[in-house]
Amino acid sequence: MSPPVSADRKPYSRTGLKGVLGTLDLNSGDAVVPPTLDSPYYPFHVEIPQLEAPNQSRFTVPDGSRDIAGFPTYEQYQRIEEEYLTSLSERKQPKALISQSLFDKIYAVLQNGSEDRASTAQFRFWVRKMFVLAYPQTSFNHNTGQTPEPVVLHDKRPVAIKERLYEVLCYCHAIARHGGRDKTCATLRLHYSWVPKELTAKFVKACPTCTLKRSGNPDF
Ligand SMILES: [Zn+2]
Repeated sequence: MSPPVSADRKPYSRTGLKGVLGTLDLNSGDAVVPPTLDSPYYPFHVEIPQLEAPNQSRFTVPDGSRDIAGFPTYEQYQRIEEEYLTSLSERKQPKALISQSLFDKIYAVLQNGSEDRASTAQFRFWVRKMFVLAYPQTSFNHNTGQTPEPVVLHDKRPVAIKERLYEVLCYCHAIARHGGRDKTCATLRLHYSWVPKELTAKFVKACPTCTLKRSGNPDF
């Protein structure tokens, strides 16, 4: 069963731009066909694939490959994430990234307040200090015709869920037009929260398109 295709597009989506890769729907599990290396467009005129903005709705892992052409592969990302997490102290690891299960607990506290007996007072205190539940006024679900789901915000931005971080990083790195760590971090800060800078730095470092760019091709 494939999830419904979201019509949700951010206003900055480059809808007029039909990239080499065409429209890439992350929710459909479409196989990504990488452009051939001798293509006249690749790598010298890298088009930005049109990616969907990952949101907080429940994610079904696609059957096919999650790899997005021009970016680190999903497997590479998993290694990067592992490396990042093991570099942290044991105390910091559990909340360094917001996994789906942690997200669900946060959501429950925000919805039920102190009635949420499944959590400790300490956890509830942390949740109330860090997050709010908000009904999005625009962007999220605005085209589905359904009442929008409330979104968990930290610092006024939706929390990126660990299981979607690969797509979140590709999406923001694409909007930043492969613009390096600082530009990618700045783009991430506009759209999401809870994406660590060190993780972003490692991701950008592993990006094949950025590697080509760094090799000094003047067309970039
Ligand atoms: Zn890149």
